Amino acid sequence: MRVKAAVLRQIGLPPPYAASKPLEIAELDLSSPGRGEVLVGIKAAGLCHSDLSVIDGSRPRPTPMALGHEAAGIVEAVGEGVTDLEAGDHVVLVFVPSCGRCGPCAAGRPALCEPGAKANGAGTLLSGERRLAFHAEPVNHHLGVSAFAEHAVVARESCVKIDPDLPLELAALFGCAVLTGVGAVVNTAKVEPGQSVAVVGLGGVGLSAVLGAKLAGARQIVAVDLSDEKLAFAAKLGATDAVNAAAPDAADQIRRISGGGVDVAFDMAGAVAALELAYAATARGGTTVTAGLPRPDSRLSLAPVTMVAEERTLKGSYIGSAIPLRDVPRYVALFRAGRLPVDKLLTHRLKLDDINEGFDRLREGIGVRQVVVFE
Ligand code: ZN
Ligand code: ZN
Repeated sequence: MRVKAAVLRQIGLPPPYAASKPLEIAELDLSSPGRGEVLVGIKAAGLCHSDLSVIDGSRPRPTPMALGHEAAGIVEAVGEGVTDLEAGDHVVLVFVPSCGRCGPCAAGRPALCEPGAKANGAGTLLSGERRLAFHAEPVNHHLGVSAFAEHAVVARESCVKIDPDLPLELAALFGCAVLTGVGAVVNTAKVEPGQSVAVVGLGGVGLSAVLGAKLAGARQIVAVDLSDEKLAFAAKLGATDAVNAAAPDAADQIRRISGGGVDVAFDMAGAVAALELAYAATARGGTTVTAGLPRPDSRLSLAPVTMVAEERTLKGSYIGSAIPLRDVPRYVALFRAGRLPVDKLLTHRLKLDDINEGFDRLREGIGVRQVVVFE
């Protein structure tokens, strides 16, 4: 079938993207789902910083690539061997397909699936195939999803079935922002009731971490960002304190208001300076969690003696250390119960044709989550 999709051909075009148009809206050929694959009619796809990192070259991927990795839609057809999904099922798409058989999968850590990571790096589905083409030239898949498109063929393992009454424009957010941000708090850091927390970087993932920290019962949630607007937004979601990261004494401010540093500090910004600030704001015996994705050539400088003499922990968190089949339904249930107000993160709805303007807004920090909505 023919599908309209947002395709990145050239990495690193200069902003503003409204003028340079790194994403071209093109008609692609989409093959039928192969064995173990599913055809999904995409209904909503969120704009995430990880898409922007591919566009600006800070997270290089093979081109041409159809972008978009945070999405929800409706199953339209299933390939051979798919017996547990059928046409009409609503699904959230997850951006690491997990094979279920490799070492990390067997250890209960599907977010680290080895064949999944390999396929994502190569721009293929889990099967190793590409189902997208432009005039017979293969087009790479973004993280097995490629959801800035009317339809997508994905691995069965990229789908989590959800109840059909959850609005799909909200469901999309559970695939990346919520899974990553809330998961960093409850899975990676395992924040306990009464702990103090700081969140550095208040994009969709960081604000999801604020929601997660509130859910987990943190007594203090210090919001940290360069934007006073974002700090005010975080306060509405449950942050108890705010520190502007531009202040030269930002780390001292956090240490002061938390009585010597927070129990857990999260870097959600993807910049080394943000991770260093999070580490500097962490208390003795505390944990610093990073879910940001700095450029591959970035290096961190810290005094290892602090890890020993202060029993400090530095942990990475990928997709919130998620087990998607467990966590997506959990977070959806918490949303329904009013305890995880993910709807507050959705600030813009846009058409696929306006996606470059959307990435300008994301780049400038305007709004929180923008979702491309398909009819
Ligand atoms: Zn994302
Ligand atoms: Zn695996």
